[in-house]
Amino acid sequence: MKLSGWGRYPKIDAQVTAPRSTDELTNLVQEGSAIARGNGRAYGDSAVSATNTIHMKHFNRMLAFDADTGQLVAEAGVLLADVIEAFLPRGWFPSVTPGTKFVTLGGMIAADVHGKNHHKDGSFGAYVDWVDIVTGDGSVERCSQTENVELFEWTVGGMGLTGVILRAAIRLRPVTSAWIEQTTLVADNITHAIELFESSLDATYSVAWIDCLQTGTDLGRSLVMLGEHAPVTSVPAQYRKQPLQTPAKRKLSIPVDFPGWVLNGLSVRAFNAFYYWNAKRKPPRQLVDWDSYFYPLDAILGWNKIYGRRGFVQYQCVIPLNHAEDGLTELLAAIASAGAGSFLSVLKRFGAQESRFSFPMEGYTLALDFPVNTKTLALMDELDSITLRHNGRFYLAKDSRMPRDVFLQSEHRADDYSKYRRGEGASAAYSSAQSERLGL
Ligand SMILES: Cc1cc2nc3c(=O)[nH]c(=O)nc-3n(C[C@H](O)[C@H](O)[C@H](O)COP(=O)(O)OP(=O)(O)OC[C@H]3O[C@@H](n4cnc5c(N)ncnc54)[C@H](O)[C@@H]3O)c2cc1C
Repeated sequence: MKLSGWGRYPKIDAQVTAPRSTDELTNLVQEGSAIARGNGRAYGDSAVSATNTIHMKHFNRMLAFDADTGQLVAEAGVLLADVIEAFLPRGWFPSVTPGTKFVTLGGMIAADVHGKNHHKDGSFGAYVDWVDIVTGDGSVERCSQTENVELFEWTVGGMGLTGVILRAAIRLRPVTSAWIEQTTLVADNITHAIELFESSLDATYSVAWIDCLQTGTDLGRSLVMLGEHAPVTSVPAQYRKQPLQTPAKRKLSIPVDFPGWVLNGLSVRAFNAFYYWNAKRKPPRQLVDWDSYFYPLDAILGWNKIYGRRGFVQYQCVIPLNHAEDGLTELLAAIASAGAGSFLSVLKRFGAQESRFSFPMEGYTLALDFPVNTKTLALMDELDSITLRHNGRFYLAKDSRMPRDVFLQSEHRADDYSKYRRGEGASAAYSSAQSERLGL
């Protein structure tokens, strides 16, 4: 079948199998270089193997929960949405969550996903107690911070290239309500946005939406949104009896591909102007339900069709703290001058927690979507050069087009990872279209 990631680019002819048992799975791994696939929410080709893509959808059982520690043991194909549905009513929420709940635990571990709280809490891997994984020789090994440590460290953030994660123990965080107290700060430009982030490091969650088409003194004008889990006393009176529940919402769905012209500089400019103006006139403090706060895009099913048949690419890089202002200014100037920005341009502050091969480093991460066309592909090459000049790196969970030399220049850890994989027989057993493209 033709297979791609969430960005629907590139589309690759791929052999896909969905095993139902560990035995079936280990047999499949012997059949030639394989890669695990979770829910396909990585944007590019990291969960695609032309010869042997192993879909984990049948490994979807939650196995045990410890209500004293918040430790959940579950199979790798369990969706985060199902974890929240089962445990939020009992007062537990993911310790770290990406911007969509339609991801699997295996995918979250393999990409070591980050949320809006990286500056404070680190990434998802910090809440993984152990992982059971099918390794290069087909055996199942348990690994953790104390057992098979190297395997654990390369697996968290290793993009599925150490083996297939079968199950894991993760820790949830206790919450008393399903609501978030959100404070919106208006930043006039990128310098101001950075100042606001730096003075908000105590906030549990922070994220900025950037109007990426502005130039001059308005370059990088943005809305910095801070969030805290609300105490029961802040919950609206009508919901206070059941503070862990929020009203059900209707979902929209995009049934067909939008024509390519819908998304252009003009429509993005109009949307951005309205969004910025609308946020400025609202009260800065608001109470928001968990779903709207963490997963606004999940309310529109199939929103990836908005970009049309050719698909889209998400560009996400991180610039280290000491280069952040200069690097972000150059990136935003290049994007604005190409007139190619997206509705969704997001800036986050990463903290100091780093792992063996995970994406985050202390600094600022910028993420934006571009429809696939000659102009935007050329722009992304230019953004690569700017990121490299500022010692940044790129997020493999979003990448679908990076050239190998750019990756190897940005990723000084790639050599060690390849050596480790070769030594363990993992490079012969596991590869993705992405790892082949990047020479990993
Ligand atoms: C709307 C949206 C918002 C997002 N926001 C964020 C964000 O804020 N922060 C962030 O960090 N990411 C974000 N992402 C990216 C997403 O969280 C990651 O790509 C995640 O890995 C997707 O999980 P998945 O289950 O869909 O995995 P897939 O896309 O299927 O696979 C992703 C990678 O995980 C590997 N993998 C999957 N399952 C297993 C397994 N069982 N064993 C071994 N390897 C496995 C695959 O081989 C592949 O390398 C976002 C994506 C979308 C679509």
